Amino acid sequence: MKTLAYFDSSHDFPEEIAMAAGLAPVKILGDVKADNAPADQYLQNFLCPAARSMLTDALAHSGSWDGIVVAHGCDITHRGFDIWKKHVKTPFIHWLNVPMVYGTASAAAFFKKEMELLVRALEKQFAASITPDKLRAAIKESNEVKSRLQRLSALRATRDVPNRDYFDACVKAVTMAKNDAAKALDEAIKDWSARPAFPASMKKVLLTGSDITYPEFMDTLEEANIRAVRDDLSIGERYYATLIPEKDDPLDALVEYRFSIPRPATKNPPDPRTDFLLKAMEESGLDTVVSQNVKFCEPYLFDTVHIEKIMKAKGYKYIHLEREFSPVKDTQAINRLEAFIEMQGGAKA
Ligand code: SF4
Repeated sequence: MKTLAYFDSSHDFPEEIAMAAGLAPVKILGDVKADNAPADQYLQNFLCPAARSMLTDALAHSGSWDGIVVAHGCDITHRGFDIWKKHVKTPFIHWLNVPMVYGTASAAAFFKKEMELLVRALEKQFAASITPDKLRAAIKESNEVKSRLQRLSALRATRDVPNRDYFDACVKAVTMAKNDAAKALDEAIKDWSARPAFPASMKKVLLTGSDITYPEFMDTLEEANIRAVRDDLSIGERYYATLIPEKDDPLDALVEYRFSIPRPATKNPPDPRTDFLLKAMEESGLDTVVSQNVKFCEPYLFDTVHIEKIMKAKGYKYIHLEREFSPVKDTQAINRLEAFIEMQGGAKA
């Protein structure tokens, strides 16, 4: 099956359009273990290292993809497109504008038009015919994966599911062909459901902030005896919290879906972001938020001030960390997290 890789900074790319063209969408995640020197030929090294790693990944692996779509998330996806277009060798590269403002009629019309342009570009490049029926079938397939992730997510709070296992399941959903991902997630549901109860030594938290794109950070939380049982990350709940509605016009359904997902810091207005977090805290009975941003990720760094104020005003415990983009064990972060949880009275508090 041909693959269409995409570079976005949250959950901006409508994978179902690629699927309707007979392509397997693959989210570009970068490689935290690879040196960023290839990308640093073209990007300043004070830019977000995750996005630089994604460019390094594309420079190394674009030959194994049949094309790339860059979807507008944060500014680095926006201005980075020109660099990708010039330097990444690929038979097809397309820019998808995604509105900064979610939920207005003009944003909906704009995004629908952008998706129509993507449909036409894919049809031309891959000699495909993207019909409403194919789009509806792709939406159904996508929802199958999202609903399995919802079931897995719920098991995080009741079963012994390490942070890394959850992260791996979410990565499968965005990197494998959807029918293969659904099968892999079915296996995980069976496995997780049979696991021992949630360990009493672990603290349940909500995890927010910059997207986590490598498992080693999840291990950092684990070493601090913290389990993220809720989150609003793109390799996480942002991807599956809502299902794509079934509508006569599948592009309208994709617009409605995009505006309904847990809001990233890159979109306006910001209030729905805090609404989702507050609802998640309340419905899960959590009292602690772990927020983090990867170094140089400005959208989430700016946003944390607002989120911290709101969470603390509600009486929730809140810690924010700035992390390096590195697979090396972050002892300082582990110590800070352990001390923070200890000060709150430990896992049972
Ligand atoms: S980590 Fe932040 S700066 Fe980097 S790509 Fe994501 S949103 Fe953009």
